Amino acid sequence: MSVGSPYDVVVIGGGITGAGVARDLSLRGLSVLLLEKGDYGAGTTGASSWMIHGGPRYLEFDWDTTRLSCQDAGHIVSIARNLVYRVVFVIPVLAHDKNNIERMETAMEVYDRFQPLKKSHPHRRLTAQEALQVEPGLAPDLVGAVTMEEWGVDPHRLVFANIQDAVAHGASAFNHTRVTELIRDAGKVIGVRYQGPDGATAEARAKVVVNASGPWSPEVAAMAGARVELRPAKGIHIVYPHRISNFSISAESVDGRDLLMVSHAGFTLLGTTDDDFYGDLDSVDVVEDEVEYLLQAFERVFPAIRDYRPARTTTGVRPTLFKWRRYEDELSRRYAVLDHAGEGADGLISIVGGKLSMYRLMAEETSDAVCQKLGHRAPCETARRPLPGNESEVTPPGELAARCGIPALAAMKLQSRQGSNAEKVLDEGATSRILCRCEPVTEAELVYAARHEQVRSLADAFRRVGVAAGPCAGAACILRSAEVIGRELGWSAEQRFDAARDFVRRSWLGRAPVLGRSGWAQEELAQGALRGLMVADGTR
Ligand SMILES: Cc1cc2nc3c(=O)[nH]c(=O)nc-3n(C[C@H](O)[C@H](O)[C@H](O)COP(=O)(O)OP(=O)(O)OC[C@H]3O[C@@H](n4cnc5c(N)ncnc54)[C@H](O)[C@@H]3O)c2cc1C
Repeated sequence: MSVGSPYDVVVIGGGITGAGVARDLSLRGLSVLLLEKGDYGAGTTGASSWMIHGGPRYLEFDWDTTRLSCQDAGHIVSIARNLVYRVVFVIPVLAHDKNNIERMETAMEVYDRFQPLKKSHPHRRLTAQEALQVEPGLAPDLVGAVTMEEWGVDPHRLVFANIQDAVAHGASAFNHTRVTELIRDAGKVIGVRYQGPDGATAEARAKVVVNASGPWSPEVAAMAGARVELRPAKGIHIVYPHRISNFSISAESVDGRDLLMVSHAGFTLLGTTDDDFYGDLDSVDVVEDEVEYLLQAFERVFPAIRDYRPARTTTGVRPTLFKWRRYEDELSRRYAVLDHAGEGADGLISIVGGKLSMYRLMAEETSDAVCQKLGHRAPCETARRPLPGNESEVTPPGELAARCGIPALAAMKLQSRQGSNAEKVLDEGATSRILCRCEPVTEAELVYAARHEQVRSLADAFRRVGVAAGPCAGAACILRSAEVIGRELGWSAEQRFDAARDFVRRSWLGRAPVLGRSGWAQEELAQGALRGLMVADGTR
């Protein structure tokens, strides 16, 4: 076992919270090591609804969360312009909804006070006729509707942009590296033991260890005999590989909760459930009942919902702060920075709770606490300093497409991930051939991700560049992607097939709960084709 060089801070967890903390502390001039046991953003962050929003729902019971989320969302959308886009909701009101149109409009009038903080527009009230004109798929018997504007974001790229910036300012960050132990010396936490992707173990000493491991934070705190109390709540989404409505839509569930169908750039997320979770955080399954609960609610407001074919489901566990008695969706989304010095674990700080929409603020407060402990004086810069790819204006996508010989859609998608660094990615020296027609990702981008973005598996590539995210779910591109990554990482032919098979098997778990009869048939064909290719190649 080797002992690495000492750091000022080790951050445990590469979700949005840990990535934000690593960036903030690096910009303040501290030496930082971040360790993530899976891939960046693969925990709760990637399973979110992909929204930077204020949460009008919280106005009823947690006013401050709405205000803080809106304030911080305003900062996030200006430092991450290439990653965000406006998401406009049409909120239909039906005759027997818990809120009639007057109550709904009053709520939106209150929310309008916060909208300027996050650079969003105020609501509009629509008659039933106007609502049906803009969104013909709505139930014809609606009473009226109100609009609401939020922001969409690719959380995987948002996490990675924070990691990139941290690394650019001197941090080290490793994915597929699990912290197995906190090293202690007479009641003080002085570092971590960890296991890397090759199974080798090592130690890193640090003056402060930050536990930013989301729903896993009680488990990590317990390594030092400290306590973090959460009330973890599971949420699922159904993913459609295209837009199925002009606008995002909300619906009331059978038990009166607010659900959302969010129209993102090229896909739709329908969610989400919110249920107390007591299971294994490393193995969270979606069950058909949860899917049915969501579809039942949306069928009322969007009657054709069952005609659309989902691609997969996602699921994650919210790291909600503990509170007895309240229903899950009424729990506060506040966060807490916990210094465990009083529990005999000086040197360990946990950041728990919160939301993606206020990750920057959470990181700022955590970094303030770390700096105070270290006697380090340096102001927080993250509210104004742009994330990588946002330092300058982007080339118009048509121009980039013509210059590099790629379709305009591929250029737009590349810029949405890389911003003004898109040209640098295409200049990587690899071909700009498109890997998959349904989700136009260039080979050059995948090569770049394998060389510079710590892509170590096809699942990492899915998160970093969107491989297999489109309607084919990988059927048309996964083997080619394995070839491209394999070339970069030195995989044998057998390892490439194993990687493809592993990806198909794992993504099947997320698809199974939404496969209809024809879906199962297609699944059999896709898996059979993969096996056939392996036999033809002589690998199996
Ligand atoms: C269904 C759902 C929808 C949501 N939608 C939204 C939304 O639209 N907008 C919003 O603002 N919020 C949303 N949220 C909340 C938001 O997603 C979370 O608050 C946020 O992503 C939590 O980020 P995190 O970094 O704290 O946790 P995570 O993303 O879970 O990151 C923690 C990381 O720590 C790593 N880790 C754990 N143990 C170890 C270890 N021993 N060693 C190394 N690494 C370790 C994990 O692998 C994980 O990657 C949603 C949540 C859910 C569940």
